[in-house]
Amino acid sequence: MFETKHPYRVQLTETGQLKHFITTEGLPRALLTEILDTADSFVDMGAQQVKKVPLLRGRTVANLFFENSTRTLSTFELAAKRLSADVLNLNIATSSTKKGETLKDTLMTLAAMQSDMFVVRHSDSGAAHFIASEVTPGVAIINAGDGRHAHPTQAMLDMLTIRRHKGDFTKLRIAVVGDVLHSRVARSQLHALRTLGVAEVRVIAPRTLLPRDVESFGVKVYQDLTEGLRDVDVVMTLRLQRERMTSALLPSESEYFKLYGITDDRLAFAHPDAIVMHPGPINRGVEISSAVADGKRSVILDQVTNGIAVRMAVMSMAMGGQQAERQARAAAEEGAGQ
Ligand code: ASP
Repeated sequence: MFETKHPYRVQLTETGQLKHFITTEGLPRALLTEILDTADSFVDMGAQQVKKVPLLRGRTVANLFFENSTRTLSTFELAAKRLSADVLNLNIATSSTKKGETLKDTLMTLAAMQSDMFVVRHSDSGAAHFIASEVTPGVAIINAGDGRHAHPTQAMLDMLTIRRHKGDFTKLRIAVVGDVLHSRVARSQLHALRTLGVAEVRVIAPRTLLPRDVESFGVKVYQDLTEGLRDVDVVMTLRLQRERMTSALLPSESEYFKLYGITDDRLAFAHPDAIVMHPGPINRGVEISSAVADGKRSVILDQVTNGIAVRMAVMSMAMGGQQAERQARAAAEEGAGQ
């Protein structure tokens, strides 16, 4: 485990521009809104025949995935390519004990190849923050998921999907359903939902899958699914993170589905226009029925499309922040030399 205290500070330049993207926690509403606005323009661009802009032309982006991924890795790759960057994909399996060392060596080597940005997925909470603050501070770091800690681009693509379907956050009632305890996605979502001013955020889960400090996120907690779903505008389901469960927290998957699975019957309690989301990969018949996942309220594939746009937005903004910081440093050095 790496240090995760106040990781948001390292993300900003002195003038408040984004230069790394590690967590949604602590970022101001204006900055989250800027990410969404920038991403919105990229969604529109993605619908056109020519999908490229030269914002990262001549820059090198390395995707460093120490944990497996399908959609996150491929959408980061596409995002970087649509920004005209040169992209390097490295799938690196983690060894359990010497992660800190391995990580540092790998990164120093890639930094020596003059990479401008690392997109990092790692099983240790705090890995992205550690790299940004201690290993290669001059390289923009984008967190693509660190342990149970954060998955900020997933949260922002979810926010973009909600805003595009539902508009004003301050009028919405939103429920996050499932394995909050093990979910980096949930943590990043809850910070973003709160910062963006969502009227009411609910968390629905069995006690065993809730973090002890869940109320500190300013949410209403429900154990009963139908009660929690009543009149919500958005249902955000989470994957059961079996790989992170160290003890038996659930009787069985079929029992879980019976109590917490999202089905059409359950959805009848939500607002008639409610949308249903899932970060993927979906366990059909565990968190969500196939009828709902493929049904007309599901926006799961929109989330994937919006993921490319959000990743383009944060990559271009972070690169801009790094550049501004370099210029400010050079100007200060020149001033000091005179
Ligand atoms: N793909 C997301 C993540 O990497 C969600 C999940 O795996 O449940 O955290």
